[in-house]
Amino acid sequence: MSAPGVAGETDRALIDGVLAGERRALAKAITLIESTRPDHQARAQDLLAALLPRTGSAIRVGISGVPGVGKSSFIEALGLHLIAQGRNVAVLAVDPSSSVSGGSILGDKTRMERLSQNAAAFIRPSPSSGSLGGVAEKTREALLLCEAAGFDVVIVETVGVGQSETAVAGMTDVFVLLQLSNAGDDLQAIKKGIVELADIIVFNKSDIDSPATDLAAAQMRTALTMLRPASKHWQPPVLKASATRSEGIAEFWQSIEAHRAALDQAGELPAKRRRQALDWMWQLIDSGLRSRFRDSPGVRDAIVELTAAVESGATTPVAAAMRLLDLPAHAYDNLKFD
Ligand code: GDP
Repeated sequence: MSAPGVAGETDRALIDGVLAGERRALAKAITLIESTRPDHQARAQDLLAALLPRTGSAIRVGISGVPGVGKSSFIEALGLHLIAQGRNVAVLAVDPSSSVSGGSILGDKTRMERLSQNAAAFIRPSPSSGSLGGVAEKTREALLLCEAAGFDVVIVETVGVGQSETAVAGMTDVFVLLQLSNAGDDLQAIKKGIVELADIIVFNKSDIDSPATDLAAAQMRTALTMLRPASKHWQPPVLKASATRSEGIAEFWQSIEAHRAALDQAGELPAKRRRQALDWMWQLIDSGLRSRFRDSPGVRDAIVELTAAVESGATTPVAAAMRLLDLPAHAYDNLKFD
């Protein structure tokens, strides 16, 4: 294994390939970061360290919405629109269901067929194993690789279950919520706190019932006035679109650019990304500490007994937590950070 931060000979070619924007090298690099093998992980971290200085230049767009809202149709229309403007687009996914089913929202090859065949696009399904946190972490790293490969727009798609939206909003510059004008969709999103994460809200499928879309958009605008905006420099607009007819796509992208301009003018983008990077670090520390704590020998044994005691009401959660945390130092022997 190479020393930290110094890529081995074999990975030099991979790094050069990614930097040259070669799709095969990028795909291989992402496979390396998704691997759970410790030697692959070490190489992946070296790779990322080498590529990090070449990251940061893309517009990072998060897109979320319930299944069937039209995410892939919208992303395809958007991607083709951007490519026509001379940009190149990478699409990644954080799929909470893939970690359970082993499937992937982007696994189906028929999705975004036209975009996937375009030489200026790169589409990568969600990693199909691991916890949501793990999947999100890999996607975050894949996003950096796409930037190093020269993509100027990176779209991260997720299907809504609350936590995955938070993860995607935490790795992108602008977070977009796709909505439908029916089915109490907006109410659900407001209740789950997803609307508060959104920088832009788009009512899709406006071709089906345009007046209903206008009404839903107006109601959403009213609802937004009662919520605290995520940024004091930006009031989230509510737009409408028809992904299948490619309507509202150009206006949507203008909103993305206006959002970027507002962040730039306020000098907020670097601060936002710094905050996201630190949050990411702390999430990794929290989850790392938690799993090492649970796996340490003394804790592993005591936890069974104390879990039962809390469940039966024989002890309080506070007392049990304190006992576990106070276990003698040898219980933490494997808390080594090497
Ligand atoms: P996803 O599950 O959110 O990715 O949704 P899809 O993009 O797969 O779309 C689900 C279905 O809605 C497909 O049959 C699409 O053709 C259809 N659809 C998507 N966008 C629109 C739209 O703007 N108008 C209409 N009428 N149908 C749409």
